Amino acid sequence: MEKSHGLLIVLSGPSGAGKGTLCQELLRQMPNLKYSVSMTTRLPRPGEVDGVHYFFRSREDVEAMIARDELLEWAQFCDNYYGTPRFAVEQAIVDGQDVILEIEIQGALQVKKRFPQGVFTFIVPPSLAALSERIHKRGTESEEVIQKRLATAIQELEYVSEYDYVVVNDEIPAAVDKLKSIIIAEKCRVKRK
Ligand code: 5GP
Repeated sequence: MEKSHGLLIVLSGPSGAGKGTLCQELLRQMPNLKYSVSMTTRLPRPGEVDGVHYFFRSREDVEAMIARDELLEWAQFCDNYYGTPRFAVEQAIVDGQDVILEIEIQGALQVKKRFPQGVFTFIVPPSLAALSERIHKRGTESEEVIQKRLATAIQELEYVSEYDYVVVNDEIPAAVDKLKSIIIAEKCRVKRK
């Protein structure tokens, strides 16, 4: 039997919805999933490692990659570029590997155009109050940046209808179970979009 392509799984949703935490836990429980490491122009937060959490690059570097069409998608988010290296993702999928992207909404919409067969999952916080609390608790952003991120999050919630699945992140273990169920079901799917 011919080897089948891997799944492209997109986890998206507002900043602070907890998609990073869910993604990490999902990767721990499904070690065969390949995490797509993004490019970003923002500065590393304490503990973040270049090449593991992100590829931290200059604006010039990222703009050159955009010009050469080396990013599967990219977006400007709160004054920084974020983007997904295209070749690594495409190669993994052809090799039969399931790949997970943790990206914001504008990028997810671009991926949907290029990879409509992807699995698009929207993570939402249980409430905007919970979202605000999470971003504040993280304590890594200034109040100005937090307000910008909250305003962006409110706009982003309207895009839920573009997605295949929505997962409310009220309890991490339950939300991870839902994501695992989605992936397992998608791997059993007969009809593709
Ligand atoms: P943070 O600065 O908190 O790590 O990420 C900010 C936002 O950028 C988050 O919503 C995160 O999911 C998103 N993001 C991370 N990597 C990418 C990427 O490669 N492309 C896009 N479009 N968004 C990304």
